[in-house]
Amino acid sequence: MVNHLSILGSTGSIGRQSLDAAAHLGIPVRAIAANSNTNLMEQQVRQFLPRLAAVYDEAAAKRLRLAVADTPTKVVCGMDGLIEAAAAPDTDCVVTAVSGSVGLRPTLAAIDCGKRIALANKETLVCAGALVMERVAQRGAEVIPVDSEHSAIFQSLGGRLRHPELKRILLTASGGPFRGMRREEVYDKTPAQAVAHPNWNMGAKISVDSATMMNKGLELIEAMHLFGVSPDRISVLIHPQSVVHSGVEFCDGSVVVQMAVPNMGLPIQYAMTYPDRAPSLCEPLDLFSSGDLRFERPELANIPCLALAITAAQRGGTAPCILSAANEAAVALFLAEKIPFGKICECVAETLESIHIIDAPSLGDILEADRAAREYVKGLV
Ligand code: NDP
Ligand code: MG
Repeated sequence: MVNHLSILGSTGSIGRQSLDAAAHLGIPVRAIAANSNTNLMEQQVRQFLPRLAAVYDEAAAKRLRLAVADTPTKVVCGMDGLIEAAAAPDTDCVVTAVSGSVGLRPTLAAIDCGKRIALANKETLVCAGALVMERVAQRGAEVIPVDSEHSAIFQSLGGRLRHPELKRILLTASGGPFRGMRREEVYDKTPAQAVAHPNWNMGAKISVDSATMMNKGLELIEAMHLFGVSPDRISVLIHPQSVVHSGVEFCDGSVVVQMAVPNMGLPIQYAMTYPDRAPSLCEPLDLFSSGDLRFERPELANIPCLALAITAAQRGGTAPCILSAANEAAVALFLAEKIPFGKICECVAETLESIHIIDAPSLGDILEADRAAREYVKGLV
């Protein structure tokens, strides 16, 4: 079990559940970070008494500084503040739960300090997977996946990221709120319809990604890097019940999967207690009342975002970064009701076709591809 935590994205869905897990397990939280939700951050400061609170937005940081002036918590801001929270010398584990590629630089900073990364922020690995995993190996840091599928794969491999007898990864997907619908049927779906996920309660961006199934595409790329496999060794299975959270097939034909109720509290807690386990706040799984467990092949013609992500995964270089950044920008436009649901995928496809892809990118190339992709999507609307 880890000793002291830093939680980046503490006001979000994963961040709040991470604080609950920390309180439940009795692990002190030394640093928190978020973008601008200072009301909630103030409550968190008073409850958890972290040494450091990083607020990305400068004006919001000023607000928080005033609000918690009577506490010993130091308030910092901007990217430097996020990096300070990630690299805090008094923590041994950083939960990276900010949404979007803004998580990349703080994650690298934590890796450079050799910490355990409880990795929720999938955009980090999608954009810079090769670079991040190489840095993890160099610095003796540790990545424990928080994303439920990757935690399930990690657990199925016996708590390992690499396994010489691994043949294939079985990546399950609920199919989201529009499962089984045709492309034309979903084109004009609204943000409220898109964020209404049948099984999971998550932040807005990832909920939209679940509706387009871009989320599964991002997870496929995340899995490639975490477990060191090529995209053709990852099978996506639609599993509407969300009871099997993913698994693996070994070279002898044995299939091992992890099952539990759909509750992120479990993988979050496991990333903190690994290699041990501890009683959790989650309901136990009752297989007698889970109903029939079904597995279907995804129909890529009706899931264009997943198809695009697979193509970007095969292409490599900066293609996944361009895919992820364009998707982030397009989802923000969709949530602001500036483009229809079906346009998200069109924006991503056009951006991928237009921006030059660089092989074996440096961090600079990745940050530039990210910027260029966002800029390109803005220009499309
Ligand atoms: P939310 O939208 O609920 O929360 C996002 C968090 O990131 C908030 O704390 C937000 O702060 C913070 N944030 C956003 N931008 C910045 C910034 N520029 N600087 C600092 N903090 C920032 O997201 P989720 O919790 O749903 O997801 C977080 C990450 O975890 C994502 O990468 C997602 O893909 C991944 N994930 C989430 C799952 C889930 O069940 N929710 C499952 C698996 C993975 P503020 O509130 O101030 O805006
Ligand atoms: Mg997931």
